[in-house]
Amino acid sequence: MHKSITLEYEYFTDIKCLPLELQKLVEVARNNTLQAYAPYSHFRVGAAILLDNGVIINGNNQENASYPQGMCAERVAMFQASALYPEQAMLAIAICGNPENFSLNHPLSPCGGCRQVMLEYEKKQRHNMKVILCTMKDELIVFENASMLLPFNFSKDDLQTK
Ligand SMILES: [Zn+2]
Repeated sequence: MHKSITLEYEYFTDIKCLPLELQKLVEVARNNTLQAYAPYSHFRVGAAILLDNGVIINGNNQENASYPQGMCAERVAMFQASALYPEQAMLAIAICGNPENFSLNHPLSPCGGCRQVMLEYEKKQRHNMKVILCTMKDELIVFENASMLLPFNFSKDDLQTK
């Protein structure tokens, strides 16, 4: 039996195609790349999360001389959001790459580890977390929820009998 999964997303080349609150979120994520601590990779990433109460949470990648101890921008933002506002749903996360030494010619995608963390919070809050991938210029990709970025995932549902 052959089965397939279709992944739907929106692609824009003009930020004005987004609602105003998401345009702002993208601008914050872009700006957050500038404060990234990336002295080793020089690959700066910014993230911004819009909470249900309207607050925007910032994140950027944090590297370490002991490389595995660093953390992606998305997880920095999500953990901060969950720590500060555990009851507020994360409605959307914008992610932007801004390497120091070259220009990205496509929107940056979150790594597998960050997708797993997005999935966790999306299930916890029982509300979609929109995922917006962007560049410092025009291209934007929008996913309606985080779960679609991690098909056949492992989640808390697997840890209990149904
Ligand atoms: Zn990551």
